[in-house]
Amino acid sequence: MDWKEKLSFDQGHIWHPYTSLIDPLTVYPVESASGVRIRLTTGLELIDGMSSWWAVIHGYNHPELNKALAGQSQKTSHVMFGGLTHEPAIDLARELVRITPEGLDKVFFCDSGSVSVEVALKMALQYWQARGDTSRKRFLALRCGYHGDTFGAMSVCDPFNGMHSLYSGFLPENLFAPAPKSGFDGPCTPEDLQAVEEIMASHHQELAAFILEPVVQGAGGMRMYSPQYLARVRELCRKYQVLLIADEIATGFGRTGRLFACEHAGITPDIICLGKALTGGYMSMAATLCTTHIAETICRGDPGVFMHGPTFMANPLACSVSLASIRLLQESGWQEKTARIQEQMQRELITAGNIPGVRQARVLGAIGVLELDRQVPVGDIQQMFVQDGVWIRPFMNLIYIMPPYIIESGDLSRLTSAMLKAARHIGS
Ligand SMILES: *Cc1c(COP(=O)(O)O)cnc(C)c1O
Repeated sequence: MDWKEKLSFDQGHIWHPYTSLIDPLTVYPVESASGVRIRLTTGLELIDGMSSWWAVIHGYNHPELNKALAGQSQKTSHVMFGGLTHEPAIDLARELVRITPEGLDKVFFCDSGSVSVEVALKMALQYWQARGDTSRKRFLALRCGYHGDTFGAMSVCDPFNGMHSLYSGFLPENLFAPAPKSGFDGPCTPEDLQAVEEIMASHHQELAAFILEPVVQGAGGMRMYSPQYLARVRELCRKYQVLLIADEIATGFGRTGRLFACEHAGITPDIICLGKALTGGYMSMAATLCTTHIAETICRGDPGVFMHGPTFMANPLACSVSLASIRLLQESGWQEKTARIQEQMQRELITAGNIPGVRQARVLGAIGVLELDRQVPVGDIQQMFVQDGVWIRPFMNLIYIMPPYIIESGDLSRLTSAMLKAARHIGS
């Protein structure tokens, strides 16, 4: 089979994310990837602006991560976690407990971000069940939030972005507060908090937890909001005895300029979800951490255990590469790197505000966003980006990048100028 035939098979038989099999979008075949460059089978090289959806923070084909993976594969690629344990899991759990906000001491390993959200929701439900409070079975979430595509996770995603109507009758119906309007740099507006407090005041007896993405809402709108809001939400959750779940699957491991976005507000959630960059983007792995109080309450209740246990729980290859990625992050000077990326994106994207059709340019840490006043024609703009030698994948009305932290300033400039060019093209 040549590439033409392989691609035609792909288009006819393989689902890509959110795509049609009768009217498929173009997909570009990758030959290999290294550093910040993705090489297509045509020989074209693209500068990666996406970190493969927040994950590949150290770049592709990294020697340290390759070494960890190869080394572990010589020992144990996989072993069941029921009744057995191993060093990579223990070392990784210790490291996660150490680096996450103070108080998150108990670790549940699972295989994807969505599953780690399911686990967090189940922990909250089992916690209240164990306390004999059988009325707390719903969740509060934010409009424009994104927490994954499995049913529990989907039920706390934005109801319109998340297409809840497609699954109504099966999907649990949760409560939603408006997406906070106050930007990252501004103070938190009273209206934002009032909306949350009103819902909590009237529904707290049925709320198991409030789940949100701290400070940056990712796939539901690439919005950045005031850390003050997060700090006040922490207080409100305490006041109304509602658990707080922080979904740091996108924001974790330095992406917002802090190791975890909760640090912008100096808070500890009751439960945290980690994924995406956990393995440096090498493979699928996630973790849910909770406080000792939650874990012990669950285990004192009926049936005395936490009811979840995936086949590939704590996979040793994934644990080893995660550990290597976290060590690499700590040794790599990620703070200087993300600060430099932030400063350069601020400088280069700020002028976008003058482009017709651009509603706002936003930058935080290693995340840069242009919000337009209309939908981006993804197919056309994607093609334009590829011709310009960059890999940027817009969605809805957003053109955004979150490059690997190792990106050099010349390559970053090529990404930002491609974004500006696309915005001008769409606005003209
Ligand atoms: C990507 C993402 C998820 C889902 O993770 P998957 O690994 O795709 O299942 C959940 N929450 C947030 C904030 C995410 O960005």
